[in-house]
Amino acid sequence: MWLTVENNLVNSTDNKKVSFHTLGCRLNFSETGTISQGFVDRGYEIVEFGEQADVTFINTCTVTDAADSTCRNLIRKAYKASPDGKIVVAGCYAQMDAPKIAKMTGVDLVLGTSEKYKVFDYLNEEETDAIHIDKSVDFYGAATSSVDGHTRSFLKIQDGCNYVCSFCIIPFARGRSKAVTIESAITEAKKLLSQGFKEIVLTGVNIGEYESTSGEKLSDLVKELLALDGLERLRLASVEPNTITDELLEVMKSSPKFLDHFHIPLQSGDDTILTNMRRKYSVDDYKRIINKIITAFPNAGIGADIICGFPGETDENFQNTFNLVKELPITHFHVFPYSKRKNTMAGKMDDHIQHPVKKQRVKTLIMLGDAKLNMFTEDQVGSNSEVLFERENKEGYWEGYTTNFVRVFVKSSQNLKNQIINVQLTEFKDNKLYGELIN
Ligand code: SF4
Repeated sequence: MWLTVENNLVNSTDNKKVSFHTLGCRLNFSETGTISQGFVDRGYEIVEFGEQADVTFINTCTVTDAADSTCRNLIRKAYKASPDGKIVVAGCYAQMDAPKIAKMTGVDLVLGTSEKYKVFDYLNEEETDAIHIDKSVDFYGAATSSVDGHTRSFLKIQDGCNYVCSFCIIPFARGRSKAVTIESAITEAKKLLSQGFKEIVLTGVNIGEYESTSGEKLSDLVKELLALDGLERLRLASVEPNTITDELLEVMKSSPKFLDHFHIPLQSGDDTILTNMRRKYSVDDYKRIINKIITAFPNAGIGADIICGFPGETDENFQNTFNLVKELPITHFHVFPYSKRKNTMAGKMDDHIQHPVKKQRVKTLIMLGDAKLNMFTEDQVGSNSEVLFERENKEGYWEGYTTNFVRVFVKSSQNLKNQIINVQLTEFKDNKLYGELIN
């Protein structure tokens, strides 16, 4: 899932100010969380992006040409807000286009995907090269952080990717797949638990590749994490369908701590398009894995990324995707129009689809996705679920997520933040699920 959100994190008391802006995937957000904690530990106060700051840290994405352009606009905005402050540009776009970024007015430091954690080493140097890009993109160990208002934490277990999906630039930006050891992941997980987190989401670029790159099995890592005292909920971020093994499913269903929520990218429901995308599965493979998940977790929430308008996608190809996602128990759609990315195989393909056609296909799938999520949400009424509460909204409802990732609203005068409470799901109204606490 690709996002763009301005970080708005906690305060400390020192005079120095730092602001952050993160683009791209959950992994980037996780990494920004870790880096922001480093600034807080050094006495910085975190202010909103766009406010005057001594340091502005932009964690970039290069998934599309549009993402690159957004990054450059953010740099301009940061300079306008803080012409005397330092601007640090890090991450995937920085890795791919460092000289261009370094020439932009106001940019002091350009850090690649593996150097972003070394920001503190470079920041205090008097005279320094602006660009720090390590082409080998070494892995640096597990990184942990909190996002989502400090109730869910993310544990990075893997980075990079050995696949060559034809639309994707990420393997060039983040390099080949690498992973942390089980020992290192457990150490980081314990740190998160000691900070009070109850839920951990395992993240990476292609976490299903954990097994082939760490030499240790993902199922073994999951098993060890599930055994940790203090950990109450564990889930995986996006996992490529071809990497979900029976062994992994067995481990996941062996513990109630493993949540019945999955994110399995589909991208297309048409075999010709999947082949052209160089994905590693067919439509039948995808169906098989979804069916296995539903057999193991009958009430699972299942998210899927879908790209509309890949080069050469005919109406029939699109209809196949529509039919597949309608038929399968996919509950959370993440729909994107194909966006041309230079230096990718797909970018050089013929038959690029007209923008209005892509737009219409995206709209069609979003409508289907909304309808399916509403049906799934309504189906929860009458059942109970453990809910991890995140925040109280302006209307006085506490909001949190069920195990299968449905947002629930509960009225309570108690402070429910970061509490996991059994909730009776009582009503679906105006596309929202309401519940009551069970004592
Ligand atoms: S699996 Fe494919 S889409 Fe995902 S990062 Fe690797 S190359 Fe990109």
